[in-house]
Amino acid sequence: MNLDNGIIYVDVDGVLANWVQGLLSRINEAHGTSYVHDDWNSWDASIVPKGKKWWDYTSDREFWQHLPLYPWARELFMHAKVTGMPMAFLSSLPVKTPDVLEARREWLDEHMQGLWKWKPSEHLISANKKELVVHAGDLLIDDSPTNVNAVRNIVGAEVWCLAQPWNRGITQDRLSPNVILHRLEHLRKE
Ligand SMILES: [Mg+2]
Repeated sequence: MNLDNGIIYVDVDGVLANWVQGLLSRINEAHGTSYVHDDWNSWDASIVPKGKKWWDYTSDREFWQHLPLYPWARELFMHAKVTGMPMAFLSSLPVKTPDVLEARREWLDEHMQGLWKWKPSEHLISANKKELVVHAGDLLIDDSPTNVNAVRNIVGAEVWCLAQPWNRGITQDRLSPNVILHRLEHLRKE
C-alpha cells in the first residue's frame, strides 16, 4: 500500500450519514412498520412496499438535511484529516432525486463543522461512478459493494469497506469503524 501522494475519499451515505435509518423511518411512518437498520441487509429493496421505489420516500430536501449521523462519523473524519493527506467527501447522489446537492452541502456544514478550516461542503465531490475519481495511490472509504468492487479494479488504489449489513458479501478489507480509525492513525504523517 503506497498512499504517500494520494487523497483520502470518504463516502457520505452509509459511512457518515445514516441514510438507511432515514429511509426506514420514512417507510415505517408511512406504512406502520417497524424496520430497523440491520433489516436493510441487501439492495434488493424487499423492504420497500410493492409498487413503490425507495426514492419515493427521499425526494424532498428535508430528508437529506435531517439524516442522522453515525456515532463514529466525526471521529472518522477527524482521523482522516489528521493523517495529513488531502481529503474530500465523495458522494454519489441519487439521480432520481437531483435536487438534493444543496441539502447535502448543508448537512456536511452542520455535522462536520469545526474540524476543518474550510467549510466541509467545499470539499464535496459528487460522482455516481467513483472509479472515475479515485486513482492509484488514493484511499476510498465506502460502504457500497458496487463502489468497493469498481474501485478495487483500479491497480494501486486502496479501498476500505465500512462493514454494514448490506455489504456482507465483501470478503476483503470489510472493516468495523474502530479498525478504520486504527488504520487511519497509522497513516498519520510524522
Ligand atoms: Mg455509501
